[in-house]
Amino acid sequence: MDNKRFSDIEENLKEINETISQAAVRSGRDPGDVRLMAVSKTVEPVYINHAIECGIGLIGENKVQEFLLKEPELNLENCEAHLIGHLQSNKVRKIVGKVDMIESVDSVALAREIAKRSLALGISTDILLEVNAGSEESKFGFDPAELEEMACEIAEIEGVSIQGLMCVAPICDDESTLRKIFSNIYRAYLDIGAKKINNINMNVLSMGMSGDYREAILEGSNLVRVGSAVFGARNYR
Ligand SMILES: *Cc1c(COP(=O)(O)O)cnc(C)c1O
Repeated sequence: MDNKRFSDIEENLKEINETISQAAVRSGRDPGDVRLMAVSKTVEPVYINHAIECGIGLIGENKVQEFLLKEPELNLENCEAHLIGHLQSNKVRKIVGKVDMIESVDSVALAREIAKRSLALGISTDILLEVNAGSEESKFGFDPAELEEMACEIAEIEGVSIQGLMCVAPICDDESTLRKIFSNIYRAYLDIGAKKINNINMNVLSMGMSGDYREAILEGSNLVRVGSAVFGARNYR
């Protein structure tokens, strides 16, 4: 345990919440309209629990195995957990029912697997559709051009419930290019939502990470996934 790290997490959360509030207000919304997820991949449970004590109500993990290993030590009574990393079909049975949402649904086949497992458990799983923001970096996600068609196909599947969209933006130094990418996804989110298609809810727009969450909020994000800015640089072993 590292007391300095505890106080850093507390300070970081204060700063991030302040930035989120300002960006939300600048985009014409209430500060409370934007949710902060603490992305806890590679972080030990003791620090994740500290973030939860500091008020974090949502964590995100990338890997099924890592989440299941840490879960028994996490204080998740008042905190949701979402899966945000690429999910392989053979891991679906392990994770369905263990997280509150799967944000990284990037194929119809994966949605079918999640639905099958959900029905076997007698539940419906909330999902987001991952959109490929047009970058080489984000290898996963639906092409924006086929997003609506795929959403309609998935909406027909019993056992999953579409709640919105998720995207990982490319690494980009140019603010206007970045904001354009986010605003295109926001437009798709609004357009699909406006069609009021059965079993397609556009409630959650998950975009923005440590390096770009302010820009994402300015372009309409209502859930930001922030890892290193909360917990410090990741130590992959
Ligand atoms: C790691 C990760 C994040 C957080 O990244 P940071 O840059 O550390 O904030 C957000 N979303 C996804 C899908 C990730 O894999």
